[in-house]
Amino acid sequence: MSQNIAENLGAVLSAIRQAERAAGRPEGSVRLLAVSKFHPAAAVVSAIRAGQLLFGENRVQEAHSKFAPLLAEFPQAELHIIGQLQRNKVRKAAEIASCIESVDRIELIEELEKQCARLGKTVRILFEYHTGEASKSGFLSSDALAQAAAYCGSGAAPHVIPAGFMTMAPFTDDRAAVRNSFRTMRKTAEEIRRRFPQMSLETLSMGMSNDFVTAVEEGSTEVRIGTAIFGEREAFGNEEAL
Ligand SMILES: *Cc1c(COP(=O)(O)O)cnc(C)c1O
Repeated sequence: MSQNIAENLGAVLSAIRQAERAAGRPEGSVRLLAVSKFHPAAAVVSAIRAGQLLFGENRVQEAHSKFAPLLAEFPQAELHIIGQLQRNKVRKAAEIASCIESVDRIELIEELEKQCARLGKTVRILFEYHTGEASKSGFLSSDALAQAAAYCGSGAAPHVIPAGFMTMAPFTDDRAAVRNSFRTMRKTAEEIRRRFPQMSLETLSMGMSNDFVTAVEEGSTEVRIGTAIFGEREAFGNEEAL
């Protein structure tokens, strides 16, 4: 892989456009979220200079120290939190993120509401759905997802704006299992949208460096890509080590 972030970004974007075309989907229907976890701020700056504005981080502490200065310098950039979120980190997450993609329990929505009200801002959220054993987090059933959507629909959290769903496929070479995970997500999203037609739950965040083409074929509207843009993460960055 090229060491050049701008080149990698260009290659990833054209692979996404190619996958959109192959799947018969309109050009631009899939957004790229560049996952910069374990990579330094300088790497993010290179990506911003190459035109990338949407970033994802999975650990709040790292995200805050890296992105608080970056967002001050590049106010057009945007950060999503994509990793499992502890209640006591919600305040910091709310300070820097425009979207929390890893909402997996109602308690988090309550805490986000409290912190966003305090900050006088709103935050978008995605409901994370557990469709594969790779992920330790996520709502475990469509009923649990529906309860969270109903909680938001009740008006209890006016500073928290549900925008859709996120899932992680299992880490496996079994393409059918990966596809099945994305398909389960899409079908469940359709079911929840039917139950809550008043909500705009359009985002489907699914697909990573190794499986984003399959995700685009299965209806993803946002792919979260780290390695293919920024290169391998240091050994300590392996998810297993968290
Ligand atoms: C790290 C991570 C990604 C990006 O993974 P790559 O394989 O490096 O593209 C996407 N989503 C989540 C939730 C992650 O933690």
